[in-house]
Amino acid sequence: MRKINLVAIFVLAILLTSLATASMLIPADDNAKENAKAPENSPVISITPAGEWELERVDFIHYAKPTNPAKGSRTETCYKLMGVKWKTFPVTYTINPTNSLNISESFITSAVQTSAETWDAATSQELFSDAYVINYTAQYGTQNFQNAIAFGDYPDNNVIAVTSVWYTRVGKQIVEFDQLYNTRFDWGDATLNPLVMDLQNIATHELGHGVGLADIYSTTCTGVTMYGYSTEGETSKRTLEQPDVTGLQGMYGI
Ligand SMILES: [Zn+2]
Repeated sequence: MRKINLVAIFVLAILLTSLATASMLIPADDNAKENAKAPENSPVISITPAGEWELERVDFIHYAKPTNPAKGSRTETCYKLMGVKWKTFPVTYTINPTNSLNISESFITSAVQTSAETWDAATSQELFSDAYVINYTAQYGTQNFQNAIAFGDYPDNNVIAVTSVWYTRVGKQIVEFDQLYNTRFDWGDATLNPLVMDLQNIATHELGHGVGLADIYSTTCTGVTMYGYSTEGETSKRTLEQPDVTGLQGMYGI
């Protein structure tokens, strides 16, 4: 019996040692924290049948309040590429302005178009087409090669908006993004009313996902458009910061 117990203890010791070694292999730096956080907020969740046009999808969920903000370091770049990008231009988008909050169609289209042109102006590539399509039946979450921007109820009071991006597994080419703006928030122009969630502010962030930029959660980088959290009244994401521009131009040129 004593011999068996010793063997069991030995095996347990080996297991614990290997577990400790494995966790030590993960560098305890900010990137690791950020990477560890990424799958939670942006999981790759669905895959279409195999082949040349096999698609993967990643969802970016924009939360109102940080639950566990990562600490930053001064050496951070404050931008992160998804590793996928558009290869045909311009990217067109379809707005469904239907909403339960009586937000006007002209306000929505103006805010979204301004957001798209903000990215467009930061690269020589004709990234977004100047004109948008209005479609009252366009839906978030349907993979149909239409970039749908829609409003609706997302069953979480802490989720401001969600962007899903579909891309080819081979070639890493974005083929679609869809966006949902959660009607559990009051949307508007926060320069006029600081109690509302600023549509242009959030749309600029979400369109950053649409062109291949990931969320940034480091507290060093709270000023960038791709910082992953927002609050009512915030308008700082309307304009791009240098890291956002550097990331964009890394994909689409100066
Ligand atoms: Zn985001």
